[in-house]
Amino acid sequence: MSNGYTYSQTRELMRQFQIKPSKGLGQNFLTDKNILGRMVDAAEIEKEDEVLEIGPGIGTLTRQLAARAGKVVAVEIDKRLLPVLEYTVEPLGNVKVINGDILSLDLKTLWRDCFAGKVKVVANLPYYVTSPIVMKLLEEGPPLQRIVIMVQREVAQRMSACPGRKDYGALSIAVQYHSQPSIVAVVPPTVFIPPPKVNSAIVRLDIGNSKRYAVKDERLLFQLVRAAFGQRRKTLLNALSGGFTQLDRQGLNESLTYCGIDPGRRGETLSIQEFCCLADYIYEKIGN
Ligand code: SAM
Repeated sequence: MSNGYTYSQTRELMRQFQIKPSKGLGQNFLTDKNILGRMVDAAEIEKEDEVLEIGPGIGTLTRQLAARAGKVVAVEIDKRLLPVLEYTVEPLGNVKVINGDILSLDLKTLWRDCFAGKVKVVANLPYYVTSPIVMKLLEEGPPLQRIVIMVQREVAQRMSACPGRKDYGALSIAVQYHSQPSIVAVVPPTVFIPPPKVNSAIVRLDIGNSKRYAVKDERLLFQLVRAAFGQRRKTLLNALSGGFTQLDRQGLNESLTYCGIDPGRRGETLSIQEFCCLADYIYEKIGN
């Protein structure tokens, strides 16, 4: 059988292995070889690459990845899928399946045990935990080169939104702080079994060799970001006064003015550089 499975081959495998997709685990199996190919192409997989796949399902994307990469490690939470994965991917010889929850695995240990260098992550993510998985990968900082993921279209738009757009928010800043996102393709529900209720999109996150932004205290930066977006309708000064407790209103006003940010602006208009400037100034001011 060729790499990746068509709609009818997927149906047949599901019948053979008696797989009933779990909604709770976000199981929507991809059945379109072109879309699978676009994910692998976007990741620019080469023979020497090591790839982490999150949620291999019945192994369709895994097979495409294994055909191009040196090694694929696939972490699947659902024990019921292990027999089908044993049939579809283990004979390929360069795939290691780990039964586990990616959110509770220690990434340092995973990297130490499974990988030798910088890794590419490619995954059709379970939509109920997209943001926690992406943030774990970006924040825990294992050596990563690129992430190519299928996510809900709206989430893809939020990840790549620019300041001033209505979908620009805390997720845009968190993702763009660590990586350069781009939307590769929009994907209709019809290519999945079962079809999800929403449109999907393939997003590519490029992670450079050096940090994109330098800030003295990342925790402080993201506290400010959360406060600024916590009450989007309020001016920045009002939102920060309500949601950021480490400095009083006058101190916040002075800090904004020092950074050349009009306190009457709204959080959604601030660039990441402006948030970083504010975070660094406040860091010095509160004497960390
Ligand atoms: N890769 C397959 C495909 O493209 O057809 C399946 C993708 S399906 C959208 C998501 C997969 O992630 C399912 O196999 C599901 O069991 C698995 N999954 C859900 N939560 C997970 C978690 N926390 N850790 C690892 N795998 C998870």
